[in-house]
Amino acid sequence: MIVKKRIIPLRILIDEALLRRLPLNHPKRSEILQDLLIRKSGFKGEQDMDYYLSLLNDSEFNILQDLRIPLGKNHFQIDFLILSHAFFLLIENKNMPGIIEFDPDFNQVIRKHNDKVEIYDDPVLQVKRQLIQFVHWLKLNRFTIPPIEFLVTYSNQGSILQNPTKNEEIYKRVCKGGSVVMKVEEFKNKHKKDIFSEKELKKLTKLLIKSHQPEGSHLSKFNLSPADFLQGVACPSCRQLYMERISGSWHCTSCGYRSADAHVQVIMDYFLIGNPSITNKQLRRLLRLSSDKTASRILLKMDLPFSGTTKNRVYYPK
Ligand SMILES: [Zn+2]
Repeated sequence: MIVKKRIIPLRILIDEALLRRLPLNHPKRSEILQDLLIRKSGFKGEQDMDYYLSLLNDSEFNILQDLRIPLGKNHFQIDFLILSHAFFLLIENKNMPGIIEFDPDFNQVIRKHNDKVEIYDDPVLQVKRQLIQFVHWLKLNRFTIPPIEFLVTYSNQGSILQNPTKNEEIYKRVCKGGSVVMKVEEFKNKHKKDIFSEKELKKLTKLLIKSHQPEGSHLSKFNLSPADFLQGVACPSCRQLYMERISGSWHCTSCGYRSADAHVQVIMDYFLIGNPSITNKQLRRLLRLSSDKTASRILLKMDLPFSGTTKNRVYYPK
């Protein structure tokens, strides 16, 4: 049973908002696009793993997706944490097509893809570090420490895994997404004694969900200023700026497309790109509206939380 589901990370939503609001010739676009592709690929890989994990016996396991737990001044992150009465399993997932060659002597992974050679840190080491931190967290919270297994999975069908030094640990701890069910069977046969009661498992699950802290904004890393961003409502059909507001709906002068709510995305993007609130005046500038009555109507209809009197009202994201 999935007891904690992942949601689309804020950082993906921010990258997408930035790409919608920056001019096509803005110098930071390629860096943002690169960041978005990496994050989306990781997210997609985890979604692909959901299918393989759905083949497990639902009643035996509590599955937590995408955990980020504070520990001291840092956090540790687990893509999948699988809890049973007898053992726990940590899974670090990679979405990486190409030839993946493990080099455990130097704690590195060499990836050959599209005539390019790239070096990555050893993911087995990475998941071992997560395990150490998780055990530390369990001890701090006075939980029993059951046997804890760990795996690195490659969810991409196009990953070709190679282990040229025939390292035992790599064979044991690294697998394709499709093999995860067999690996879990092995762990089940190895750990048959129940250690956690239903009550204790519930308590742990609840505390993990409560402790989860999603990653915050990474906007500062791109070093953008308000002047970088476009104003106006872009046409959802042809992407042309600016649509005009004519009798209650947006009209594209370029392709003729009409939309009643094209401004909603623009306002959501405004918040995502780092503005904590919006006033009537700021909205008029953002949407290129002249009427403050129209701006008021739009803000009221979006049902945003607000503070202040009618005249000086400040609206916040939901
Ligand atoms: Zn258009």
